[in-house]
Amino acid sequence: MTLLDLSKSLHNCDRCKLAKLGRTHVVFGVGNPHASVMFVGEAPGFNEDQKGEPFVGAAGKLLNDLLASAGLSRDEIYIANVIKCRPPNNRDPEPDEVETCKPFLLQQIQMIRPKLVCTLGNWATQTLLERKVGISKVKAQAFYMKDFVIFPLLHPAAALHQGNLLDTLKEDFKKLKEFLDRNTKLAEPTSAAPAPAPTLQIEPPQPAQMDLFG
Ligand code: SF4
Repeated sequence: MTLLDLSKSLHNCDRCKLAKLGRTHVVFGVGNPHASVMFVGEAPGFNEDQKGEPFVGAAGKLLNDLLASAGLSRDEIYIANVIKCRPPNNRDPEPDEVETCKPFLLQQIQMIRPKLVCTLGNWATQTLLERKVGISKVKAQAFYMKDFVIFPLLHPAAALHQGNLLDTLKEDFKKLKEFLDRNTKLAEPTSAAPAPAPTLQIEPPQPAQMDLFG
């Protein structure tokens, strides 16, 4: 199955109750299907539900600015949410909804094979780390999983609601840029062919980085 097949298979998904609670679109995800860096948010909001695309509207604009500050663009990354349908009135996703929809996020990750997954906010972070841990304790640090690294960040919407978090979010994207810079290798120039693009190559973790939860 390809990413497109998976997307089509969810077009009218009714596996959880969110299908009947007023969603307009199933918001599957957008971006480069071969991205090295993936961003994962919580669930679609009003604008995302209307447009069928994650991170549009004010939070999306802020994310675009933050991405640019880290030297990234929407074209080169892939963005998805844990939950593909909008919960009514933007309430938190409920555990049965996360359980039902999470396998599709895991399939997306398996197909895209990113090296780095930036989780935005508590929900995405806890879902992928599989631990009940607060975002403020783990943000802007690298967690080495079996197949990729998780780099938790605050959700941009949190900074829109609490202006005092904006500086923290900007600082954390600076740390993301430093992490990317440390782990991006320039390809060796060969013959007259155009130089290949730099690639993200994340070194295996040091033992001390294996489990920062103690
Ligand atoms: S949230 Fe996920 S599982 Fe529930 S209906 Fe939407 S796509 Fe299906």
